[in-house]
Parts: sequence; structure tokens; C-alpha cells
Amino acid sequence: MARSESNPHGIGILGGTFDPVHFGHLRSALEVCLQLELDHVRLIPCAVPPHRQQVVASAQLRRLMLELAVKSVPQLVVDDRELHREGPSFTVDTLLSLREQFSDNPLFLILGTDAFRGLSSWSRWQQIIQLAHIVVVQRADESLNHDNNMQNWYQQHLAAADDRYLPAGKIWPLTVTPLAISATQIRQALAAGTAVNFLLPEAVIALIEQLALYRKADQ
Ligand code: ATP
Repeated sequence: MARSESNPHGIGILGGTFDPVHFGHLRSALEVCLQLELDHVRLIPCAVPPHRQQVVASAQLRRLMLELAVKSVPQLVVDDRELHREGPSFTVDTLLSLREQFSDNPLFLILGTDAFRGLSSWSRWQQIIQLAHIVVVQRADESLNHDNNMQNWYQQHLAAADDRYLPAGKIWPLTVTPLAISATQIRQALAAGTAVNFLLPEAVIALIEQLALYRKADQ
């Protein structure tokens, strides 16, 4: 099926703590957008992450860092809907809310291999693929090993090229420029007083320095 006026544009979704946002997030999001010919990718900071240790910077600062990072890149859009919800930020609830807003558009949930490996522990995880496609982005130094059940599930849902006009339901393994950058590495460098240039946008670094964020070593 070729794209026509009747095929609504695909929309990408990248959720995370973004504590802080870095070029690994930004470049992957942009490359997925280009490869799948999406209209845009929505970067969605979580309020309370359900799966991991607490975040360091406040939700407002993580959102502000994202806004500074995407300022001149129209394909990347900051979406703060999770910051308006109480309790843990479950992805399935975010997708339900996006589905209400974008009833016909194909939605593409972007997950790094590390995030995808933990998918079966997520709240109502089987509902996720009914609401969106899942794009699995190969993260540098990560391989996608999963147990047999997940392996079968993965194979059963693998996408074919034409499936991108479906609203949801398929798995898309994609390769993007590997950037072995993590927010943990950046927080540790900042705590140690080491330079973080070329790992994240200068505008974000300027804000971090101005507010003396991530200075403590226990982060
Ligand atoms: P932390 O080091 O604090 O755990 P992180 O750098 O992994 O953070 P998150 O905000 O937890 O960043 O990640 C959000 C999403 O972005 C996840 O799906 C994750 O797999 C993906 N991601 C993070 N860093 C990269 C990267 N360097 N390349 C590709 N995807 C990435």
C-alpha cells in the first residue's frame, strides 16, 4: 500500500527520564523519524518512572532541557502529558491518551534495546502493541537477547514494509547511528567536574552549569 492523502502520517513517541536529554536520544529520534517517514517524534518526559531509581532533576527542569534541545528541529516535539498525571508514568496510559488525540495515525513507540528487553514487566504490556507499533532501536554495545516466549512474540509481530500504514501492531527493528551515550555517564562526568561537551546540546549544558545541576556524586 503506497502513502496517499488517505494515509495519515505516522507519529513517533520516545518516552524517558531525559535526566538529562543527550545526543543518543535526539539523534535516534531524528533518524527513526527520517527512516519511517514520520510526521514528527514526540519526546515525552516521565513524571515518576515506574521501572527505575528516582530521577535527579525535577520534571520541570527535564522538560526545559528537552525544549532547549529541540528548539531548531521541527521533527522533534516535546510532549509533557505525563507531567500532568498523578502516580507512576505507565506507557500504556500515555498511549491511550495519544490514541484519543490521534485516532487514525500510525503511532510508533520507540524503545532502545535495553528498554525493549524489560517490556514484559511493564504494566499491561500486551495492550501496548494494540495501541502502537514498537520500534526497537539497536543501542550501542547492547544486544537484543530475550527469553523464548519473548522471542516468539517478537517474531510473530515483525513488520513488513507496507505495515507502516497500519495504526499499530508491528515490531520494527531499526539501526541508527550508534552513540554510546547515557544520561548516567553524563551525570557522573558532571559530578566529577569532567567536560561533557559533544555528548549533549550546548544550550542544555549552559542551563546545567547555570543551575549547578548534577554536581553531587551519588547520582
Ligand atoms: P540513564 O543513564 O539515566 O538510565 P538513559 O541515557 O538510558 O538514562 P533514558 O531517558 O532512560 O536515557 O532513555 C529513554 C529512551 O531512550 C530509552 O528507550 C533508551 O533505550 C533510549 N536511549 C537512551 N540513550 C540512548 C542512546 N545512546 N542511543 C539510543 N537510544 C537511547
